[in-house]
Amino acid sequence: MRSMPVPYSDLFLTEYATIDCEFPHRVADIYLAISSISEFIEPEPVDVEDLLPCHSTSLVESVQNHPEVFQIAVLSAGGAVKAAEIALYWSPFALIRPLGYHAGIDFNGGFCFFNNIAVAIRKLVVSGLIKKAPIVDIDLHYGNGTVDIFRNDPDVTFRNISGHSRENFFTQFEAAIEDAEGFDIVACSAGFDTYMHDWGQLLLASDFKTVGARIASCHKRIFSVFEGGYYLQDLGKNVRAYPDGFLEACS
Ligand SMILES: [Zn+2]
Repeated sequence: MRSMPVPYSDLFLTEYATIDCEFPHRVADIYLAISSISEFIEPEPVDVEDLLPCHSTSLVESVQNHPEVFQIAVLSAGGAVKAAEIALYWSPFALIRPLGYHAGIDFNGGFCFFNNIAVAIRKLVVSGLIKKAPIVDIDLHYGNGTVDIFRNDPDVTFRNISGHSRENFFTQFEAAIEDAEGFDIVACSAGFDTYMHDWGQLLLASDFKTVGARIASCHKRIFSVFEGGYYLQDLGKNVRAYPDGFLEACS
């Protein structure tokens, strides 16, 4: 079984001003849980010019006013970019922090500063490496920032899974990936707060393995970016199940 490339930096363990539940231990626990199946890759921070296809100058400057946060936010976006570039030949999972999908063109919030997955997709588009992509959002919450950024972009479609039951989650998920082959790459906003003991109260730990295996089977080029997931006791186990499903499907 091959390992999974995982853009990750110890800098993601930095303490910075955020809400209590978005603490560095989330990433530290996941790191331990997936280390035996992962090839960790140090990302490089993105440049401001990589942010501007997604964010306004004023939003970028508002984060720059907090240098420590800016340093880790551009590295997190760089982790997503690294994952997107690796996805051209193998399927990575970006273990990054801060998360990104609530950051829009001219706003941020929900523990997000820059929209990591959007910056990564736009970087591939600007580089001429891809043209069309769906973003499949399996996080419990609606990726309002991602929607805002791609609102007028017919080439990037946003598929939010908002299941009201476990069964309905999988119905929506299958619908979200059924036409994936018609795109150049598939991106997944991989949140784990749909877990039965997390805010969503929907999925079993084993369901994340099913999700990983199914999304791995939908396209040759896929990259996943860590978003939410706050039930620390089982977060490592839940996130581990996702690449386990990927690797099993691809072995
Ligand atoms: Zn969430």
